[in-house]
Amino acid sequence: MDINQEPKGEGSENAGKIKCLILGSGPAGYTAAIYAARANLKPVMYTGLQMGGQLTTTTEVDNYPGYPEGVTGPDMMEDFKKQAERFGTEVRFGIATAVDFSKRPFKVVIDDKYRIEAETVIISTGATAKYLGLEAEKKYAGMGVSACATCDGFFYRGKVVAVVGGGDTACEEASYLAGLAGKVYMIVRRDILRASKAMQKRIFNTENIEVLWKHQAIDLKGEGGVESVVLVKEKGTPKEEIKELKIDGFFLAIGHAPNSEIFKSYLDTDEVGYIKTIPGTSKTKIPGVFAAGDVQDPTYRQAVTAAGTGCIAAIDAERFLAEQG
Ligand code: FAD
Ligand code: NAP
Repeated sequence: MDINQEPKGEGSENAGKIKCLILGSGPAGYTAAIYAARANLKPVMYTGLQMGGQLTTTTEVDNYPGYPEGVTGPDMMEDFKKQAERFGTEVRFGIATAVDFSKRPFKVVIDDKYRIEAETVIISTGATAKYLGLEAEKKYAGMGVSACATCDGFFYRGKVVAVVGGGDTACEEASYLAGLAGKVYMIVRRDILRASKAMQKRIFNTENIEVLWKHQAIDLKGEGGVESVVLVKEKGTPKEEIKELKIDGFFLAIGHAPNSEIFKSYLDTDEVGYIKTIPGTSKTKIPGVFAAGDVQDPTYRQAVTAAGTGCIAAIDAERFLAEQG
């Protein structure tokens, strides 16, 4: 819909002016909501497609303070949601599809259907899994290709799977899959893992995980589902070698891209797309628009740092509104 069109039709009953609009329901969004609600900003949150954010795709979260025995990602995010709702946050299912930050009140289109207006906007839209860009990834989507071991690992009990990547996510996914699958290959493009030392140790101590160093996946093959991956070893060197490996499942864990596309014409981003904020604050270049969590954090990208910046964003929004009188 045209962002300047008056709201009408389905969803327009939800339109209207909001003091504090929060986009995204990960740790950053819910924490912003808790603080904004307690400051009486009556926050309205749009959850996006992935209610609860990235952590809903993981099993154990062992490093979030307050859970001495650890907690599953989905359980933790349910706790966040309950706490945000307890103080009056209105949680709505919907995706922001366009924005107009040229003047206040800011305009935001939801689900391409209706428009709302807000005095302040907190962007906490996080990040999304990256794919290699192979045609085969699309061809076998849901038929052997996945970017979420927790969601799909169940289907590979006793089977052979490959995980692409060498970061914490890849190690975590490989480790999780090793508990289900018969064999897990990690396809790593360099000769080192980017993951933390603790994660690396876990990988090297798991018998049914084999790391394929200096390997890259270039294609997938199979009738009606993934049956093998085509790999190139030591690409671009005299030792370059192409090989095919029998697998049943192909898991991507090569990082995430910030969900900032719809904001880019108004806000500054870095070359990857992370929204730039004034250091030490959640303030973007537009007064009244704040960013929190992974969408503005190329460095730490942790639940607790996302939550911390969510808190900062709500306090910044509250002070901004107070200054406006
Ligand atoms: P996200 O959690 O990414 O949430 C983004 C939210 O924005 C989602 O709700 C999405 O639906 C919504 N959204 C997106 N676009 C729109 C839109 N246009 N309109 C409205 N809403 C939108 N960190 C740890 O500290 N400990 C761990 O153990 C850990 N394990 C991890 C395991 C995995 C598999 C992954 C992928 C990450 C892990 N992390 C972990 C990192 C952690 O999940 C992130 O740092 C954290 O979730 C970031 O929170 P966030 O609120 O910024 O965004
Ligand atoms: P990441 O740290 O960016 O690692 C991405 C990995 O994928 C790297 O090994 C990278 O290789 C590889 N890669 C990227 N593009 C590739 C390509 N085209 N082909 C082959 N390999 C490719 O991403 P992440 O592992 O998702 O972690 C993101 C953040 O979440 C990190 O801050 C991490 O600490 C955090 N996290 C934490 C936990 C935890 O604490 N338990 C769990 C998961 C994630 P190179 O190394 O060669 O670049």
